Amino acid sequence: MRGCTTLTRMVPRGAYTLTLKAQGLLVEGSTEELREELYLTRRAMQYVVDALCELDKLPTPNQAHQMFYKVLREQSFRAHQAKQIYKYALSLVKSAKVNGGKKLELKKLSARLDKYDASVDLESQVVIIKLRNRVFKIKLLHRRNYIRKFIGRKWYEVIISIDRQGKIWVSIPFRWDYDPYKPRNVISLDINLKKVVVYDGRRVRRIDTRFTEGLHLKRLAEGVQKRHSYAWRRDEKWLEIIRTLHRRSRNIVVDWCRKFAKYIVLRAKRTRSAIVLEDLEKLWYNASQKSSSLANKLSRFGYRKLQLAIITKAIEYNVPIVFVNPKNTSSTCPKCGARLTYTHRLAICSKCRFIADRDVVGAMNIYLRAIQTIAPCLGSWGTHPMTNETRAKGGLRDEPMIVYIHPSLKTYKEVNPKGFRIACSHASTLH
Ligand SMILES: [Zn+2]
Repeated sequence: MRGCTTLTRMVPRGAYTLTLKAQGLLVEGSTEELREELYLTRRAMQYVVDALCELDKLPTPNQAHQMFYKVLREQSFRAHQAKQIYKYALSLVKSAKVNGGKKLELKKLSARLDKYDASVDLESQVVIIKLRNRVFKIKLLHRRNYIRKFIGRKWYEVIISIDRQGKIWVSIPFRWDYDPYKPRNVISLDINLKKVVVYDGRRVRRIDTRFTEGLHLKRLAEGVQKRHSYAWRRDEKWLEIIRTLHRRSRNIVVDWCRKFAKYIVLRAKRTRSAIVLEDLEKLWYNASQKSSSLANKLSRFGYRKLQLAIITKAIEYNVPIVFVNPKNTSSTCPKCGARLTYTHRLAICSKCRFIADRDVVGAMNIYLRAIQTIAPCLGSWGTHPMTNETRAKGGLRDEPMIVYIHPSLKTYKEVNPKGFRIACSHASTLH
């Protein structure tokens, strides 16, 4: 039992961040001025990044403050924006060093502002930001219902950016407390490129993904690249066509993932179920370099997007999420446990005559695996793994869960660490 259960992971309760993202419309200040400010911010950030890359050892936040604060202030950045610039540059360089340390070149036009330089009024959907000595008032263009979800929650920074098409975007990460309910049922998902198979213990449901549509667009892009061999790299027209195809492909996938995530999370909530997914992280990260076909890349991308979309929605609605070890989920009989023989995608059990297609077998086995591992620990659902303290006290018995947090998902503590406050003598006089 031990060996099997330690492979089950879950998203622990706690504070996370969910981000409000909306297109913005300037109602005060000009786009040109905003672009200029973001350009200056990027230039300053690049300067700090380059300086940090030169160092053998990264400075502490306080040392970084000593190094860059004055220089940034001399370029008339506001006290807290200066702090945001070196703080973010520091985290960028840190993660780049972890990932092998390529030269960092900032491309996006964006600025991060904290409470001292930004104000957010969700009731009237207006964000006001101050960049150096300019003030911009931005209206959030999004559905009222979407914006309302965030009213009354804590936020700590506003990110403003301008994309390639000249659109203004506003992102505001909010604190969100995740407290999953105790599940009474389980819904398992078996995901592949074409279909998601959903099994709730009684009924099997097949839902078409839109990954193949995304794949089709990616193939078109690849076709353009092949036809024009190397010319496309230098030709703006072809580059734009290729970029557009990739963007459309991505949009289809991301869009579908969000829709499906909402559907499945609301359904789980209605039936007080936990959602169970295959833990494919390990499988793919070992095999990812070997198989680099378009379909493989897209299903990897799609699966990660879908996983993140489901986790994000689950956090919003307090739905528990479990990941189980996917080993042998399609090769053992869900009824008797014997090894299955396959004719194409049809599985047949020679022992008990069970017949089903591959994805259904997967969904059923994932379901069974979850039931086996969740059942004994329902009482301690959602608790963090044993700390040394609880272990010393005798520990929580039957705690097979290992904490799992998607790499793109941020806990509140991570992005808003306490105890990191700079001594800004000018700050109080500025706002
Ligand atoms: Zn069987």
